[in-house]
Amino acid sequence: MTVVNKIPFLDLVTPHVDLEEELVSVFRGALRSAGFIGGPMVEDFEREFAEFCDTKYCVGVGSGTDALRFALSGAGVREGDSVITVPNTFIATTEAISQVGARPEFVDVDEQTSTMDPERLRDLLDAQCEREPGSGRLISRRTRRPVTAIVPVHLYGQTADMDPITEIAERHNLVVIEDSCQAHGAEYFSSKNNRWMKAGSIGRAAAFSFYPGKNLGACGEAGAITTNDEELAHKTRMIRDHGQVRKYFHDMEGYNGRLDAIQAGILRRKLKHLLSWNEQRQERAQLYNKLLSEVGDSAILPIAPPWAKAMYHLYVIRVKDRDQLIAMLALDNIGTGIHYPIPLHLQTAYGYLAYKEGDFPVSERLAREVVSLPMYPNLAAEQQHRVVEKIREILADRLAGKSDRSVLAAP
Ligand SMILES: *Cc1c(COP(=O)(O)O)cnc(C)c1O
Repeated sequence: MTVVNKIPFLDLVTPHVDLEEELVSVFRGALRSAGFIGGPMVEDFEREFAEFCDTKYCVGVGSGTDALRFALSGAGVREGDSVITVPNTFIATTEAISQVGARPEFVDVDEQTSTMDPERLRDLLDAQCEREPGSGRLISRRTRRPVTAIVPVHLYGQTADMDPITEIAERHNLVVIEDSCQAHGAEYFSSKNNRWMKAGSIGRAAAFSFYPGKNLGACGEAGAITTNDEELAHKTRMIRDHGQVRKYFHDMEGYNGRLDAIQAGILRRKLKHLLSWNEQRQERAQLYNKLLSEVGDSAILPIAPPWAKAMYHLYVIRVKDRDQLIAMLALDNIGTGIHYPIPLHLQTAYGYLAYKEGDFPVSERLAREVVSLPMYPNLAAEQQHRVVEKIREILADRLAGKSDRSVLAAP
């Protein structure tokens, strides 16, 4: 057997080697000024990222999870509340909800977009909640708690359908916090506002992650909150820094959740490339679309609705017998990912929420069928041809009944 070059699922080495001198100079600058926490690097990055997202404010924090938690808290979500999100996301979304003392409540995603289904959301709020006499609060029949916020997740680099979600939220007076952790630079055409809007500028606030593998990644942990709400920006600045407005004057308890200055400096350098990196991702996605369209209908390709400019954090297809496909690709040195194999309502950690299999059929089907193909700006066309050629072979063998299932049994 000839050994073929590996096509990794993610290549984090090349972009950092390309920028090595610049990134090292950030570190050198920090050493020489001993500016490790706060300072101009953080402020400059916050200003530039706010500009990138078309928002007035950006608050740099320690991670995407912190960004979500602080945004929820800064928007007034409290212990005992119910917060609505989707089961088809990374657990950080619901961890943040639980960490502010609220309880996650799920609505299913839309089959075409894999993001929050506005119809299901409408049904949950209109038919499965009731107004509390007196207070007028919206109470979930399921959790017996007041529903106060919605967290739509912009998945794989594509926004959720935000117009109907914000419309329903406004009608019920609920806060919308966007989970933009996978959607740096993604855009949504809002018919309501008659313009394209950046992910992170649509809800009351948004959370971004700069985990290394994201479209904009730090060389470590980092995150940010974006918002146009001055009060929320002010509150989250306090929450990230022990609740202080100035040193040792604490109006409340907060966290140690600041953005590291070295990471901010690195993010500033990388932010300059984000537009072109995102364009490269879109070109790679178009090539996959073209090549895979010839594979036949046994693979379902990503669907970008007319209101979405997706930035392909991930390129996710759907196939039957997903695990066999992944195992066969691995034999050929092709890396893949699964985002995500178990929907949150069926995770052991959420047993206490008492959901059961069948409650969110679309999320459950996606969890069985999704495969994320290699996707990064420096992915070469020849590599994409090889990935698709291999997929074509595997799926053709299946149709011909030659499918090799023994790979699944291999250790
Ligand atoms: C990455 C991610 C997060 C969490 O970000 P961290 O920086 O790892 O804390 C939250 N939500 C989604 C959808 C993510 O992909």
